[in-house]
Amino acid sequence: MSPEHRFIPSLSAGQMAARQLKGLKWTVAHACNGSPFYRQRLDDAGIGPNSIQTLDDLQKLPFTTADDLKDGYPFPLLSVPQKDVVRIHGSSGTTGKRKILSYTRQDIDTWQDMFARCYELAGLTVEDRVQVCVGYGLWTAGAGFQLGSERFGAMTLPVGPGLLEIQLQILEDLQTTCLCSTASMALLMGEQVDKLGLRDKLALKRVIFGGEAHSEKMRRQFEESLGLEHSFDITGMTELYGPGAGLECEAHEGIHYWADLYILEILDPATLQPVEPGQLGEMVVTTLCKEGSPLIRYRTRDLTRLLPGACSCGVCMPRHDKIQGRSDDMFIFRGVNIYPGQIAEVLEPVPELSAEYQINLHRRDGLDHMTIKVERNPGMSRTDDAGIARTVADEIRKRILVRSEVRVVDAGELPRSFAKTKRVLDDRNDD
Ligand code: ZN
Repeated sequence: MSPEHRFIPSLSAGQMAARQLKGLKWTVAHACNGSPFYRQRLDDAGIGPNSIQTLDDLQKLPFTTADDLKDGYPFPLLSVPQKDVVRIHGSSGTTGKRKILSYTRQDIDTWQDMFARCYELAGLTVEDRVQVCVGYGLWTAGAGFQLGSERFGAMTLPVGPGLLEIQLQILEDLQTTCLCSTASMALLMGEQVDKLGLRDKLALKRVIFGGEAHSEKMRRQFEESLGLEHSFDITGMTELYGPGAGLECEAHEGIHYWADLYILEILDPATLQPVEPGQLGEMVVTTLCKEGSPLIRYRTRDLTRLLPGACSCGVCMPRHDKIQGRSDDMFIFRGVNIYPGQIAEVLEPVPELSAEYQINLHRRDGLDHMTIKVERNPGMSRTDDAGIARTVADEIRKRILVRSEVRVVDAGELPRSFAKTKRVLDDRNDD
């Protein structure tokens, strides 16, 4: 039996498929009729406004990429008259112009309902106090967490990012129960709470974190220092409304995503064919009711895998694994494709090491070298550093098939960031 929910719909497999088909038909017709870009793109693929008959027809649709957003700047993919746009959000592109997306009134409503589902899935009630410490402004993060919390009915504390002292003061004075931040920020706040001995003065129970790849170790570290009952990984991206596209449930067995609002495909980034069920691949999304800037087979560059089967929590929404990194973050070292997350996985089970690490790539005598700096856990003795470094380097060689030099450094030595921590420093082109 599905639990009773106010915001999360309970749909049978048949009902879900029917909703997806209806949404797919609508989206293709809407994009075809409303956007010169999509009309041309779909026309080139032999698709008209009425071409969708079954869900399998999704496979015939052309892909959309971040480059298409750049080309259509400042109103890419716009599929409604400009007078119907009520909000603009943007994110920094990795190179060049930012991505700008348009929202209609209905898009804002869909987004806030979608986000309210996240708070519901995280087990919050209207008695909760939600401290939002992510970026506001053009970014979707602040607006999303706030809209969703207000729609859900919790008390919302829009503090914004950074300002550690103010964050801690609000946490204590307003007895915040749920914190929304990046994993790096939660880690930083946890370190500060530890240092100042504040834990017993806080009412914090839950953290919803997202916006960057994290390791389980990072997560355990802030769960412990903040004295949490649960923490929840949230997903989302500006192109897909913003944060709130999916969330873990209390079973913590993957991320439920809203399959009635968008279709998720997991494809091999090289061949663009579906990967075997359960295999790692790139998330490709198609929205089902997005008006302003609809997405048709949009390549997100995020890597994950689908998790088959029903979740023990009873929620009908399907699940994917946590985001394992981005196909963009991949670097090539001595001919091997490596994701930073693979290094984090090796460090994970080593009790002497913390979650903070940095990968340095450099060239010496015409050869690429990789040095991995990793922080010792506070309180651990440095006498074992050399042995631990050797064990980690051996493990990396065994699992990722590359040689590296591992250096254990003091706790607090590596740079901290409020936002996304830069894990890879590539100096190989400097000579
Ligand atoms: Zn679940």
